[in-house]
Amino acid sequence: MPQSGRHFLQIPGPTNVPDRILRAISLPTIDHRGPEFAALAKECLDGLKPVFQTTAGSVFIYPASGTGAWEAAIVNTLSPGDRVLMFDNGHFAGLWRKMAESFGIEVSLMPCDWRRGIDPSRVEAALAEDSAHKIKAVMCVHNESSTGVASQIDEIRKAIDAARHPALFMVDVVSSLGCLDFQQDAWGVDVAVATSQKGLMLPPGLGLNCVGEKALAASKTARLPRSFWSWDAMATFNRNGFFPYTPATNLLYGLREAHRMLVHEEGLANVFCRHERLAEAARRAVRGWGLEIFCLDARCYSNSLTAVLMPEGWDEAGFRKIVLEEFNMALGAGLSKLAGKVFRIGHLGSFNDLMLCGALSGVEMGLTRFGVPHRAGGVAAALEFLGGGSPKR
Ligand SMILES: *Cc1c(COP(=O)(O)O)cnc(C)c1O
Repeated sequence: MPQSGRHFLQIPGPTNVPDRILRAISLPTIDHRGPEFAALAKECLDGLKPVFQTTAGSVFIYPASGTGAWEAAIVNTLSPGDRVLMFDNGHFAGLWRKMAESFGIEVSLMPCDWRRGIDPSRVEAALAEDSAHKIKAVMCVHNESSTGVASQIDEIRKAIDAARHPALFMVDVVSSLGCLDFQQDAWGVDVAVATSQKGLMLPPGLGLNCVGEKALAASKTARLPRSFWSWDAMATFNRNGFFPYTPATNLLYGLREAHRMLVHEEGLANVFCRHERLAEAARRAVRGWGLEIFCLDARCYSNSLTAVLMPEGWDEAGFRKIVLEEFNMALGAGLSKLAGKVFRIGHLGSFNDLMLCGALSGVEMGLTRFGVPHRAGGVAAALEFLGGGSPKR
């Protein structure tokens, strides 16, 4: 049945796209070899640097999803048979690992508890053991969107340094960029991988790499074959505001608008505060329902989404189906080994207090409608937090 009113897109990406970004994208497409395009491209390429909190890094923008940006990170920096350290801490980490293996990369996989952040002391131990420096890269996910656990990237950097290990540090910031504090330069990240449809508030279609000097240097000698993803070709064309092939011109209009909103209007510090505050309200709601937040370590709570454990014997897919049909809201599914067990509330991107209240109300009504045992009062707890003693900034 057609539904009236706005659809609530509360999955952890794609996220709700602000009307002004949609309007920006609807501008007429222009010649991507002309001067107007060059100005747009430069504004996007330079404008993203503060979003990654880098001055030294180079940003590359592909017409691709985040998966493409993963591939770009791998093929530009590694050679067949190289060893890397990766982590079994979620669905997306698993997909990235499979991709690395498909390129003939030898993955040392660290088993992890999916309900906690990556343990930096174990990273240090693993690297200290590798005295021959066989490990060429440490590759991890900042905010694991399947579990709602955000690992501490600054701490992992310190662990790499403590082991005095020269491995590249490559981080998936797909669902943290523009939501959680991420500092490419200060945290010594060599390659960050991102995409358009999460914290950047755009539709899907752009894959991003932010690349530091050490990774750029590594790309000169790395031997995996690359063509479409070549940083070298990108950098050569980008220098004058162009691309080696047709870029996603209209999405770049949207990206320029998103950059203005995040960096110049709201300000990144405020963006992070907003995500933190809304996430805290969501967590209070979950506790109010008497349900369990999947993440067990409060220092690693994700501020872009909350994964909620269904009570034993209750299927998240059936619950989400009811919420979609009855309340026109999409919630995130349980992924990989969490299928059937966990649903995810996305609270990232273009989002505010009342949107969160609407989303949480949909969850609470859905729990009742589906018959899931829970306490009333989750939404009330969120309202009390948002309306009461929690100043906006
Ligand atoms: C969404 C997501 C991806 C995958 O991005 P696609 O655009 O679907 O290819 C990768 N990593 C994380 C953490 C994500 O949330």
